[in-house]
Amino acid sequence: MISVLVGILLFLVFLSFISKALQVREKNGAKRAAIAAAVVILPFFIFPFLPIAAELVFLALTALIILVILILLCLPISRISVKKEAPAERFDERDIPFSRFRLEPGSSRYRDYYKRHPEAEEADDKVRLLPGLLSVEAKRATPLTSAAAMASFQFTEELKDKVDGGDRKEVEELKNAVSGLSGEELTRWVKKLPLFYGARHAGIAELKSYHLYSHIGRGAGQYGAPITLAHRYAIAFTVEMRNEMIQQSPGPGTVMESAREYANAAHIALQLTNFVRTLGYSARAHINGNYRVICPLVARDAGLGEIGRLGFLITPDLGPRVRIAVVTTDMELIPDNYIPAASVIDFCTFCMKCADSCPAGAIPTDDRREYQGALRWRIDADACFKYWNIIGTDCGRCMAVCPYSHGPLYSATVVRKLVEHSGFARRALLWLDDLFYGRKPGSHSEFYF
Ligand code: SF4
Ligand code: SF4
Repeated sequence: MISVLVGILLFLVFLSFISKALQVREKNGAKRAAIAAAVVILPFFIFPFLPIAAELVFLALTALIILVILILLCLPISRISVKKEAPAERFDERDIPFSRFRLEPGSSRYRDYYKRHPEAEEADDKVRLLPGLLSVEAKRATPLTSAAAMASFQFTEELKDKVDGGDRKEVEELKNAVSGLSGEELTRWVKKLPLFYGARHAGIAELKSYHLYSHIGRGAGQYGAPITLAHRYAIAFTVEMRNEMIQQSPGPGTVMESAREYANAAHIALQLTNFVRTLGYSARAHINGNYRVICPLVARDAGLGEIGRLGFLITPDLGPRVRIAVVTTDMELIPDNYIPAASVIDFCTFCMKCADSCPAGAIPTDDRREYQGALRWRIDADACFKYWNIIGTDCGRCMAVCPYSHGPLYSATVVRKLVEHSGFARRALLWLDDLFYGRKPGSHSEFYF
């Protein structure tokens, strides 16, 4: 009888996983889980029909396995300590691929850039000959998906000149009314408002020099101008990228989802900026194509996650499956406390799924190395960007295969807590992830949205 009850319990756990996997169209994961369920659960229903001694032996064995797992979960496996890594220098936005590939060959800007970086010119010119992002001549772009992605990108681009509120004025009456409010109250509001507008998580960081790019490379403002920002605080927030779209990567669905979420993040950031400005404070939204700050670094310091091997922010519940936007302000706020996530660094040290699956070989396979005075995994952004220009869409394969992205397996709170606190749980999660999704999972072949 006890074994039947345990069998029913296990059946419900597997059923919940399978239905969640089907909801996000993870058919392979669901299929493999169904097979695993049959293998694991069947004995619990067979043994009650065998002699009582056999059932007792089976239950004793099950109890022993559970005991061993509990002991392993409590052991201090891979308990590493990591410190906060802060770059000693600022990064020049003109050096990112998106800025370099806006340079018109033959223009004075182009000549000036490659005079300073002659080593990059030949390779960059070769990439310029590729079909390009959203080009229907590219391998994986289609006219309709490219048009849909362009529509979202253009929408975000049209907001370019509104990032600091434009000619929006403070409302004197409101400004006076909130002047007596505490920093706690204002902080609570600016963290809750993004969620109200549609964000997933929000946090506050105190702005540091290394958060800012050194020079303007794209977006509003004079190309090449040194970046200064009089703001003291940054409100960072994330928006979710849907798992079922990301699992199609690298395919046209990825760039549609990416463009859509950049646009969503932009409209949230602008509403928040307007809110802050209405109360009489200065504010600026940092949205796709128009940044003054390096969003993943700001979001990390705002307590929203840790930067993983694939170079993206890994958030506690959605992993890297997010887009980020930031609003900076001089409103007096209370920053969140960033505690470096040793569990993520440990997981990334042995997992390697993103590096193994990257079609461009752009993700490092060794340990974190020092770059600009900070330990990090540094992806080869040029190789990644080149691949995007070959296929005509965002790739996102690294994001799709990351175990932290896999909602059905990773989303349960108890799983997340175990992974955070136990080195054994992290290894077990990777083992299960490989079992259900494969070590090097293929992308979803059909396009849907
Ligand atoms: S796939 Fe693995 S190694 Fe890569 S970011 Fe995710 S957890 Fe880290
Ligand atoms: S987006 Fe694709 S090419 Fe770029 S790092 Fe990730 S897996 Fe590699």
